Amino acid sequence: MSVIGIDFGNESCFVAVARAGGIETIDNDYSLRATPGFVAFGERQRVLGVAAKNQAVTNLKNTIFGFKRFLGRRYDDPRVQEDVNKVPFKIVQTENGGVGIKATYLGQDQVYTPEQVSAMLFTKLKETAEHGIQAKVHDCVISVPSYFTDAERRALLDAAQISGLHVLRLINETAAAALCYGIYKQDLPEPDDKPRNVVIVDCGHSAIQVSVCAFNKGKLKVLASSADPNLGGRNFDAALAGHFCVEFRSKYGIDPENNPRAYMRLLTEVEKLKKQMSANATKLPLGIECFMEEKDVSSHMCRADFEQISASLFQRVEVVLQKCLDDSKLTLNDIHSVEIVGGSTRIPAIKLLIEKVFGKTPSTTLNQDEAVSRGCALQCAILSPAFKVRDFQITDVQPYPIKLIWDESLGDAGATEVFPQFHPVPFSRMLTFTRKEPMTLKAIYTGQVPYPSNEIGKFLVNFKIDDGEPRKLKIKARVNMHGIFSICNATIYEKVENGEQPEEPMETEAQPAPAAGDNPAPANPPESQESGNTTASTEPMDNSESTEANTTDVNMEDSGDKKKSKKVQYKGKELPVDSVTFGLARNELDDKIMAETHMISRDRNEKDRLDSRNALEEYVYDLREKLDMELNGFVEDGERQKLSETLTSLENWLYEDGSDEKKEVYVQKLEELKCRGEPIKERRIESEDRPRAMKEVEISL
Ligand code: ATP
Ligand code: MG
Repeated sequence: MSVIGIDFGNESCFVAVARAGGIETIDNDYSLRATPGFVAFGERQRVLGVAAKNQAVTNLKNTIFGFKRFLGRRYDDPRVQEDVNKVPFKIVQTENGGVGIKATYLGQDQVYTPEQVSAMLFTKLKETAEHGIQAKVHDCVISVPSYFTDAERRALLDAAQISGLHVLRLINETAAAALCYGIYKQDLPEPDDKPRNVVIVDCGHSAIQVSVCAFNKGKLKVLASSADPNLGGRNFDAALAGHFCVEFRSKYGIDPENNPRAYMRLLTEVEKLKKQMSANATKLPLGIECFMEEKDVSSHMCRADFEQISASLFQRVEVVLQKCLDDSKLTLNDIHSVEIVGGSTRIPAIKLLIEKVFGKTPSTTLNQDEAVSRGCALQCAILSPAFKVRDFQITDVQPYPIKLIWDESLGDAGATEVFPQFHPVPFSRMLTFTRKEPMTLKAIYTGQVPYPSNEIGKFLVNFKIDDGEPRKLKIKARVNMHGIFSICNATIYEKVENGEQPEEPMETEAQPAPAAGDNPAPANPPESQESGNTTASTEPMDNSESTEANTTDVNMEDSGDKKKSKKVQYKGKELPVDSVTFGLARNELDDKIMAETHMISRDRNEKDRLDSRNALEEYVYDLREKLDMELNGFVEDGERQKLSETLTSLENWLYEDGSDEKKEVYVQKLEELKCRGEPIKERRIESEDRPRAMKEVEISL
């Protein structure tokens, strides 16, 4: 069983593995720890990760990046529209209004969904992991931005499934970093003591996320999280590129913004400059040779200029930091320290803002680039039965309030906020209704959600009764450990006839619930409902799900029901729940799994083909060199001449007509060549062995 953690970043992805010796970040095929989130399509193959980024400038239209931002979104989403004209590849609308990424693969136009492209990257990360641990990888934990909505989380799970990964948990990026912090700390307060409050700030390429976490021995609880999903290193790069575009327009009369290749090169250069400015406040040069219209361009910048150009972005950083502090309801004295992760927290102005808001110099106890992936691997180890690791409990928060609305269609609509903002996650809540007819519940986010639609899903609880008598219904709403909402259970209760055993005792009269640990207040009672006869109260706890932090019950019953005897007993029957949520349908998922499997086997065949071409090429070079050196004297002049000619023609063939042949052709040519080359090599070995053998015989005599 694999124990793998994946940080799926907008720019860089990391894979960490838990082994007996601890957590290790795995190098990819380029001996790098960071795998760029790039996927590229070619005439003969697709390339993934480092290789894809390396060929981006020469294959602009077919090199896809930044696709994490499109997951779970529709084409007309403002976030997507913002990128449509900016990225060098083509984004189109799919038949069902989703995002389609167009590329030419194997000479044919294709449209892939963001889930598919993400899956391709996961395939690469999976291979990296498999290479690192020399075993098959299946189970893993993947990080996800804390601000991701239900639709985005489901899309990410679909992407993982397409690539053959089984996600034990989607963990919020800041929570993963927090786990990495907490699990190694020996001096955390005892479980019942006042916690140590640590702020985690992660500013990456595309987003900034902040969480305030309360640590005790063996556990952490997120108190509040804030984020700006549209504020990261890429925004600073764009601000810098914009500045130089204006300058180059007047200085050189060129317009890089209208030349995708030049703009891409400019982005690469300003990113380098930005990183240098983090370490150096003096004036630094920027120069690009043969940039556009065969013109070389050059300029310079110092940190103060950069800070001025990016002033509005820094203001937004401050807003996010301040919001998290305010939402946590902590004072500055309550905060122990601030830990920073993510590449963009290296920007000195961001560090200063952190210090300004939280009153603490940010510390870098954590590995800034790898903490998230390492936290994921730790979480995977904790969840994996195959691995022994100290338990560390994470209680995260629900970023946006979730409201349930029911039965608009039946005219007796009601609503309740099932999970308020910053409610602990995972969590289940039991709702009790008294109903005569099937009911439809709709789940929505309320409050500010960085997503165009606030819809989470619709859930139909279907049943039929003959006697017209209302029945009790218990419905379990849940936000699971991935942060995904569902109505995971619905039960209808029938009165027990004389002689029958009740399955679950049910109280018909409202009973106050016992206080529930660190449980928040019960869901708001539905104050005014059109039916006018609904009251709400809590019922005893249902802790049937051990993985859940807690469960609370809320009654939504007809008041008439309360007049009945306390002694009435009920027998429950589980009802099917028809859920309409985001995410791919089973058949779509199966199609995409098949397509990815097919592409993986193509990649493998292509790799085999290239390997056999390389093997032939290598043999040709090796034999040519040796014919003139150590093999000289073991082949007749005539044969050597002929063999040399064969080698020359093979060499030419490999670069011309034979540069793109089938694997079998290379294999056959290598066999033929070996039939001529190997006997010569053997003759040499024999001739060297003979005197040695003679010597050995002499000695033994
Ligand atoms: P996200 O978390 O948004 O999904 P990511 O995890 O891929 O993205 P990181 O790898 O944390 O992002 O950070 C990459 C960003 O950090 C890039 O924009 C990069 O330019 C920036 N960055 C890296 N090092 C520095 C530095 N020394 N100074 C300034 N910026 C830096
Ligand atoms: Mg990141």
